Amino acid sequence: MEHVSENSEVVSKNFIEQMIDQDLEEGIYDKVITRFPPEPNGYLHIGHAKSILLNSGLAKKYGGKWNLRFDDTNPTKEKTEFVQSIIEDVEWITGEKKTEIFYASDYFEKMYEAAVYLIKKGKAFVCELTPEQMREYRGTLTEPGKNSPYRDRSVEENLQLFSEMRDGKYPDGSMVLRAKIDMASPNMNMRDPIIYRVARMHHHRTGDQWCVYPMYDFAHPIEDAIEGVTHSICTLEFEDHRPLYDWVLRELDWENPPRQIEFAKLYLQNVITGKRYIKKLVEDKIVDGWDDPRLVSIAALRRRGFTPESLRNFMELCGVSKSHATVDYAMLEYCIREDLKLKRSRMMAVLDPIKLVITNYPEGQIEYLDVVNNQENEALGSRKVPFGRELYIDREDFMIEPPKKYFRLYPGNEVRLMHAYFVTCQEYITDETGKVTEIHCTYDPETKCGTGFTGRKVKGTIHWVEATTAKQATVRLYENIVDEEKGVYDEEGNINLNPNSVQVLEQCWLEPALADAKAYDSFQFVRQGYFCVDAKDSTEEQLVFNRIVSLKSSYKPTK
Ligand code: ATP
Ligand code: MG
Repeated sequence: MEHVSENSEVVSKNFIEQMIDQDLEEGIYDKVITRFPPEPNGYLHIGHAKSILLNSGLAKKYGGKWNLRFDDTNPTKEKTEFVQSIIEDVEWITGEKKTEIFYASDYFEKMYEAAVYLIKKGKAFVCELTPEQMREYRGTLTEPGKNSPYRDRSVEENLQLFSEMRDGKYPDGSMVLRAKIDMASPNMNMRDPIIYRVARMHHHRTGDQWCVYPMYDFAHPIEDAIEGVTHSICTLEFEDHRPLYDWVLRELDWENPPRQIEFAKLYLQNVITGKRYIKKLVEDKIVDGWDDPRLVSIAALRRRGFTPESLRNFMELCGVSKSHATVDYAMLEYCIREDLKLKRSRMMAVLDPIKLVITNYPEGQIEYLDVVNNQENEALGSRKVPFGRELYIDREDFMIEPPKKYFRLYPGNEVRLMHAYFVTCQEYITDETGKVTEIHCTYDPETKCGTGFTGRKVKGTIHWVEATTAKQATVRLYENIVDEEKGVYDEEGNINLNPNSVQVLEQCWLEPALADAKAYDSFQFVRQGYFCVDAKDSTEEQLVFNRIVSLKSSYKPTK
């Protein structure tokens, strides 16, 4: 009996790691090789990120390796465009350059040979039942199926027919190759499943070389085995396919075959991940592409300003399990906030401007204030921020008739301008509709921030931007694209859209240090959240920032 260690490292291991440990201990494998096998039929989303990080993480932990392999055995929906985007996303999220990339289509010849091997063993046969007959013969969950009348063909006949299938002698759908297993198996997947079909499909890599294609359940274990994968990790819906996975490799007499392990998919509350739905949102022009910042494709998360580190931490928090659970989007927001908190400079930006004029500040004078970039991380250094007579402040930082406990600017009140001076509101100007257009203040030169002034205290501090040096920008604020009150889908299966999922603010003013910001650069805008330069729409003339996340949250992780 083995001693069960109580050290915390062992306890915190997930169930997959525990299985791997056991395999290594028992000498079943002497190394760990995993793989991430996307089908190149769309963009990767956050669920795939979980699989990528799980597989690459295990390889790293055990000093093994992991393969990026395109599972391109079903050419109808696959495209080279997707291959490119997937490689980019995988490299971004893992931070690893993939020098060798694997393609299932490179193994078509070997898969064909494997099928021939099964035929020779009497374990596969060519079947000519129509799809309807096939369904009929298959039986149900409660009734066994019936053997196909073609099941007892001779090996020679099967070999000849299969070779002719490959040579294009038979029309699409007229014949299939089936594994000979057990039509009475309680597991429907074991009832003589189809392993090859005739289909004239153009393949994005092999062209028209093939008119027979292997089925997923036959191809996948072979792909894993060829690459020497030890642990083939997939999601729970493949649990019932595992006996077939094992059957294929056993009947092929594969030495030291890989082992399939299933885990629960990642689901996020009120978030759309299905390709079908995203495709429709793109086609209906509700979003501006697969990377619209409101989506959770990896490309969208990157465009929104998420970092690989934040996604890795998120996956750590989610953990790996065998049972389905839905994760709150707020947890993802928590992770990006935590990641950026110490890494990014805290800048001033005014999103809904009102002009503020300091009437006793010399006209035409600009002074440069020293401002620390991040008070919690000195390593980020400091910058110069211009200050002058005319500033912009945010509209919500001024009220004509403030409610109780409003400590920002109102007639007669004194506040601190962040990093600068105290100002007192003397008067305000409105247009004909009563909207405030300008605020006039006086400042106290004695109150300059950092000069040790202790004369008096003020309760409010507001941010600002100097008007003549400010850089104009567009800022987009996001809400969930789904109406959370109603839930993701209506009765007809359409998405309940939130009409306010994006708010575009065209007249924002940024401090000049932000003028050189490039695509994917991100910052904290003090009091407003974290923002990232949009990679698609931002130009040197008109910067466009997306809000990644606001600063406040009620979310606290339980672990
Ligand atoms: P979708 O239909 O949502 O795009 P898929 O399963 O068809 O997903 P594949 O390209 O076949 O996409 O998946 C590649 C890998 O990613 C598979 O190993 C699959 O199990 C895994 N995967 C897909 N969705 C999730 C998810 N939500 N959580 C964890 N892993 C996932
Ligand atoms: Mg798929």
